[in-house]
Amino acid sequence: MVRVRFAPSPTGPLHIGGVRTALYNFLFAKKNKGVFLLRIEDTDQKRYVDFAEEYIKKSLDWCNIKYDEGVDIEGDKGPYRQSERKEIYKKYVKELIKKGHAYYAFDTKEELETMRENLKKAGVASPKYDSIMREQMKNSLTLSKEEVKKRLIENQQYVVRVKIPRNKEIKLKDIIRGWVVVNSNTIDDKVIFKSDGMPTYHLANVVDDYLMEITHVIRGEEWLPSAPLHVMLYDFLGWNKKMPEFAHLPLILRPDGKGKLSKRDGDKHGFPVFPLNYKTEEGEVAGFKDSGFLSSAFVNMLAFLGWNPGTEKEIFNLEELIDAFSLERVSKSGAKFDFEKTKWFNQQHIRLLNNKSIYEIIKQDFVEHKEEKIIKIIELEKERVLFLSDIVFNSKIYFTGLNINYKEYVFKKTNKEIKDILCDILEKMMKINDFKKENIETIIREYIDYKNLKFGDLLPLLRFALTGEKRGPSIYSIMEVIGKDILKNRINNFLKNVE
Ligand code: GLU
Repeated sequence: MVRVRFAPSPTGPLHIGGVRTALYNFLFAKKNKGVFLLRIEDTDQKRYVDFAEEYIKKSLDWCNIKYDEGVDIEGDKGPYRQSERKEIYKKYVKELIKKGHAYYAFDTKEELETMRENLKKAGVASPKYDSIMREQMKNSLTLSKEEVKKRLIENQQYVVRVKIPRNKEIKLKDIIRGWVVVNSNTIDDKVIFKSDGMPTYHLANVVDDYLMEITHVIRGEEWLPSAPLHVMLYDFLGWNKKMPEFAHLPLILRPDGKGKLSKRDGDKHGFPVFPLNYKTEEGEVAGFKDSGFLSSAFVNMLAFLGWNPGTEKEIFNLEELIDAFSLERVSKSGAKFDFEKTKWFNQQHIRLLNNKSIYEIIKQDFVEHKEEKIIKIIELEKERVLFLSDIVFNSKIYFTGLNINYKEYVFKKTNKEIKDILCDILEKMMKINDFKKENIETIIREYIDYKNLKFGDLLPLLRFALTGEKRGPSIYSIMEVIGKDILKNRINNFLKNVE
């Protein structure tokens, strides 16, 4: 039974990279008829941000990424918030210490700093608290038993560090990257527990993945360097037979491919990098949702940031993504975020919506108008817009109160000629009983024939007189939607304003 988890730390709003990790976990779980759970990794109290958990849940909800277990939906492996699992970690820290795989360390900040500086002076590029240095520091391996006891009883500041063995080869197989082999000398004796009673990420993550029976750890590439340490911890705790498989996802890169996509890139280029809006002291930061993106388009775009189905098909709904997804088709190399392509996805997904659903989303902008008319407008506009708000914006041509700047257009014919034409058209239109686009078109075509005109003489003129624009949906359809009254007013206005 596949069991995967999304395990964000509530340290700020969830970035699109985080949403993608959640999405891939979700797709993988659903594809394999497994369980997807949400665990909140809130052990770092210093970086804890109040609104973050709520933001994470709302973002997943907007994306339709539903979790089967996790905070708010307690399953039998809870609690799912690490701060509520403190007692559990204590047990395993004690066990690690007892087995000789971890030790207490009492070094002060200053002492650690001095150690690092000395090592740097001696030419060590990345100074570490490791198997060599631990022997010179203040910890339960160097201090006498009595001294350690005394310090613990006096409740002195301490941490627990994992005791990484010297010169050991650590191997792990990553589903996306293949075999990763690391020498233990490159890993330091990481802090796994602090005297505030909280574990650090590494320990809590491993303990929880084990107890929650996680089968696959799917997470961002930035965690790959931590994976060998996690493998060691599984080993030390005697859990290596139950170790999950790993899949480290590629980074999401800036549009130019130079470096990781950050909030600053979003600010600089004016595109969102967060799913939902959020407030900061400097003001509101725009998210994809409030910038007019459909969640289905956003999710489709995200799925393609680092994965492809191996076919030409690009437009997928969630069900289809579940069906097509596999970790084997996730790429190793970073995926460039492309805002233009994101808009294109939005356009494609708008086209897939039926008119009524679009109406339900935008109806608050049309409270004074009849649903039937708005549905017709949606039908005409949805093919050409990138955002649903464009439909609202474009809709002004269909209602009274449109301001046309008549100086904007140059006609091939003289003003006298075009005014005559429009007078004729007006007269003919008023005579149509059933004012439907087919009938309108028939009459206009007959007129063009009869007057020996070209379509190019009449249609752009008519479009401009009726909408003030040079492009748009079929003019016959527009005429049907605006109806005889508006049509008459607009032509009369044109006649008045063009001398
Ligand atoms: N809490 C980690 C994060 O914020 C989770 C990493 C993992 O999935 O193991 O990304």
